[in-house]
Amino acid sequence: MSTATSSDIIAAIDSVIGDTPRPVSLHEPLFSGNEAAYVNSCITEGWVSSVGAFVDRFEKDLAQACGAKHAVVLVNGTCALHAALCILGVLPGDEVIVPSLTFIATANAVSHAGAIPHFVEVEEASLGMDPIALQKHLEATAIMKDGNAVNKHTGRIIRALVPVHVFGHPCQLDALAHVTKTWNLAFIEDSTEALGSLTHGKKIGSEHTGIFSFNGNKILTTGGGGAIVTQDSALHQRIKHLTSTAKEPHKWAFSHDAIGWNYRMPNLNAALGCAQLEQLQQFLRAKRALAAKYIEAFENMAGIRILREPKNTQSNYWLVTLLADHDHPTWRDETLQKLHDAKLFCRPIWNPLHTLPIYAHCPKTDLRLTESLSCRIINLPSSVKLGLAYV
Ligand SMILES: *Cc1c(COP(=O)(O)O)cnc(C)c1O
Repeated sequence: MSTATSSDIIAAIDSVIGDTPRPVSLHEPLFSGNEAAYVNSCITEGWVSSVGAFVDRFEKDLAQACGAKHAVVLVNGTCALHAALCILGVLPGDEVIVPSLTFIATANAVSHAGAIPHFVEVEEASLGMDPIALQKHLEATAIMKDGNAVNKHTGRIIRALVPVHVFGHPCQLDALAHVTKTWNLAFIEDSTEALGSLTHGKKIGSEHTGIFSFNGNKILTTGGGGAIVTQDSALHQRIKHLTSTAKEPHKWAFSHDAIGWNYRMPNLNAALGCAQLEQLQQFLRAKRALAAKYIEAFENMAGIRILREPKNTQSNYWLVTLLADHDHPTWRDETLQKLHDAKLFCRPIWNPLHTLPIYAHCPKTDLRLTESLSCRIINLPSSVKLGLAYV
């Protein structure tokens, strides 16, 4: 049986999204709650900037929504990753283990900290880091010296591990956390795409230090925004202090006890966030219902399938992923061209970061599966509004 054609794929998408006006974008925000009211109240009351009641409330509500003890909301996910890496001990000249199959921000945050991304392989089931391949790679590449994992080839300390929950599908957190204990690595989850996802019944963000993003294309948006969540109260204090210019509390004096960042989320954005968060459960229902419809529509197609949530997890299905079973050099781009001609603005997965000239020199393991997956993945229109018809 030959692989399903572009026409088959377009027909299947049409059957799911019906007469939604074309063009159809990959993912657009939905403002169907108190967004305008809350943003307006910032303007009428004059609290639009770096402090305000919505910032405090968004931090409290977000922590609760992901089962975390604390949340600090910030200007975007990249800055949140950068701050978390530095505060958890990453130093210039260190290496940080990241997947190559991720958005550029994961590696850029490592670079902003003066460190070097060290790329490792993913697994097909979750598109996230493969813990078994990771452990084997570290055994072959690193030695423990004075309590630190040292890369035998570069002499640099491998300081931290940043797995990514790609498109909302939780990766194997417990197994990865185990690897970080063995090798004494700081552990930061890039959960920017996974707000509302669960693994083994636990919310993403409820166990480790996690990063979220509220960019316009994410499941919830604050315009631009990000957050760090943590279970550690002392760490929370340090994050809050260092991301708000490290100013010592005082009625009028300007005294700063460290070189901090101005990474605070403005109250205007937090107002949007509070209103969006009120709708999270509804958004999640819509997205999971949409994914279920796509799975059904593509069920019997030869050579392609919709990626399902990994075993023992519940994905937020941020983006619904069409996965070809085998590599074919031209399949992805030819299909994308046909989809765009039909005004369905689908997107491929990212180019693996180690293939970009800016990251080509970085240490890496065998990335054959990463390279194969990058040619086999197309994300389908996944906006919340498309799923509302099915809840
Ligand atoms: C969105 C995203 C980020 C960064 O978030 P911004 O808010 O856009 O800075 C980081 N990592 C991944 C995997 C993302 O999808």
